[in-house]
Amino acid sequence: MVIDSDKSKKLITLAFNAGQEIVRIYNKKVTKKLKSDNSPVTNADLRANRIICNGLKKYFPKVPIVSEELDNSHIKNKKIFWLVDPLDGTKEFLKGNGEFTVNIALIKDKKPVYGLIYMPAKNKIYYTKNKSSYFAKFDQKGNLKNAKVIGVKKRKKNVLVFSRSHGLSKEKIIEAKKVVFKKFNANKIIRSGSSIKLCYIADGTANIYPRHGRTMEWDIAAGDAILRYAGGRIKTLDRKIMKYGKPGFENTSFIAKS
Ligand SMILES: [Mg+2]
Repeated sequence: MVIDSDKSKKLITLAFNAGQEIVRIYNKKVTKKLKSDNSPVTNADLRANRIICNGLKKYFPKVPIVSEELDNSHIKNKKIFWLVDPLDGTKEFLKGNGEFTVNIALIKDKKPVYGLIYMPAKNKIYYTKNKSSYFAKFDQKGNLKNAKVIGVKKRKKNVLVFSRSHGLSKEKIIEAKKVVFKKFNANKIIRSGSSIKLCYIADGTANIYPRHGRTMEWDIAAGDAILRYAGGRIKTLDRKIMKYGKPGFENTSFIAKS
């Protein structure tokens, strides 16, 4: 299945609708509970999940869906499937910093062949179409405006992008900076929450995103597609290209690069 202009439009509208619903809840009343793995889930995650999954079922009835918020969907051995995280950065969402995203990816033969990341509170959308990656904004009616092709940028000295939440002291941070600057031949760090970090490499804002520890496939699949079509890649620590549909949909440590 190829995501042509018509399909792309449908997916963008789905993401927009889910994002508007998340923002409505964000401005009104967020209710939270803990999942079995102790991570938080809110009414916004669940409402956005319903909007996206219902839309995908309607437009693409033959393609199975794996979603973070659909427990019974986590079955592997699918040749092609949607991989959905209706609200990435639930912790950021609860903190109120606006860095949460809607993520939709299509996986085919273990590869992400389509990706969309929408950050509704900041009116930013990244998506792929016809083997290119794009950045755009929405007008008030939900139509895309100023869509432009994006691509990675190489630098003599790299710009690193790191996760936001840490809690180190100032002295520790200065010390740690020296070490990572040397390790990655870098001279700048930007900090960001959620899956948008991969988009910042895809659009040339940064060059390297090292990620240690476990993540889930739906956290990175859409960003991986956007990064690949922009000229970058995600590799595991044994230098293999990231694959999808792994046991438990879990990733090991990786490095994303321009
Ligand atoms: Mg989520």
